[in-house]
Amino acid sequence: MTTVFDDLVGQRHITEILQSAVAASRTDTPSQSMTHAWVFTGPPGSGRSSAAVAFAAALVCPQGGCGSCNECRSVRTGAHPDVEVIRTEGLSIKVEDVRELLTRVSWAPSMGGWRVVVMEDADRLTESAANALLKAIEEPGARTVWLLCAPTLHDVLPTIRSRCRHLQLRTPSTTDVADVLQNRDGISAQMADFAARVSQGHIGRAKYLATNESVRSNRGVIMKLPLQLNSIAAAFAAAQKLVDLATTEANVSSDERDEREVNALQEAYGKGATGRGMATGAAKAVKELEKEQKARATRMVRDSLDGALLDIATFFRDVMMVQSGYTDALINVDMKDEINAYAEKVAPHATINKIGAIMEAREHLNRNAAPLLTIEALMCRLA
Ligand SMILES: [Zn+2]
Repeated sequence: MTTVFDDLVGQRHITEILQSAVAASRTDTPSQSMTHAWVFTGPPGSGRSSAAVAFAAALVCPQGGCGSCNECRSVRTGAHPDVEVIRTEGLSIKVEDVRELLTRVSWAPSMGGWRVVVMEDADRLTESAANALLKAIEEPGARTVWLLCAPTLHDVLPTIRSRCRHLQLRTPSTTDVADVLQNRDGISAQMADFAARVSQGHIGRAKYLATNESVRSNRGVIMKLPLQLNSIAAAFAAAQKLVDLATTEANVSSDERDEREVNALQEAYGKGATGRGMATGAAKAVKELEKEQKARATRMVRDSLDGALLDIATFFRDVMMVQSGYTDALINVDMKDEINAYAEKVAPHATINKIGAIMEAREHLNRNAAPLLTIEALMCRLA
């Protein structure tokens, strides 16, 4: 029998817990046997929000998560009236957003089952937003379940996490990911293997890479950058190239969406409406939207840079493996010769320092450091 949990790759330990919670939610006294607040943590791409959404579907499905009924399908498409998935495209979730959400979820579930809120980026709650949420989690409605997702438990306010049951997802193995790409997405064995290997267990990124030629060619360019750092001038050029590539990649997907959103908003206000209040209302809303879009664009460039830095880190990781004598554990098999040559040329402790420098740069970017400056400093250290 198929279930909503089948798509969770390499997470059997979690699936079992969730299935028994679903069983508890269907007893005669569910509000006593059911845990009302959960935190799902796991590295990017491990599928923490997919796990939360699958759990939500199982809670509202009459069969406990069959994956094919109306309830299950409408949860997946975001159309279920009792399941709300909060996705953040900006850099933070603000207190106004949380207050608005709390008003919405205070209604009883329309289908008589559970009302479930999935918050995909609970780590982006501002402190005041987290405090506003805390009360709802402390005293949840009898039929309300909160599912928060975050990279690690430390990303969630201690007062909130102490009220939640914690589930930690694992990074799926390369074989698990390659199997899914082949069986679910119909990707060829060779491509699935390559994409799974270089994405290191990140299913979303693996699929994106396997199905997108321009992304693959950009990755090719990025992976060659460590080999070009022969001088300081070359380091600066490489930094500029990396930031440009990340920006282009982020913009490709956002430009079109930005325009669509502005049009939809203007339409909602009646484009060309002449009423005075109407025109100011629309202008104000468009301005708000543009501000949000700008925050989202910044975040997308950062995400895309972070992905590129992780890719570059795999190069040095491979060099380190070769230097330690593990020559058949390479991630970048296609760059074997370059990696071997580099490993000959550079001292092992220097390789470790370079990996450290990449991880530091990622942290700086995460704390909103200026992207180009951070990458320039990094490239100089890698040179
Ligand atoms: Zn179902």
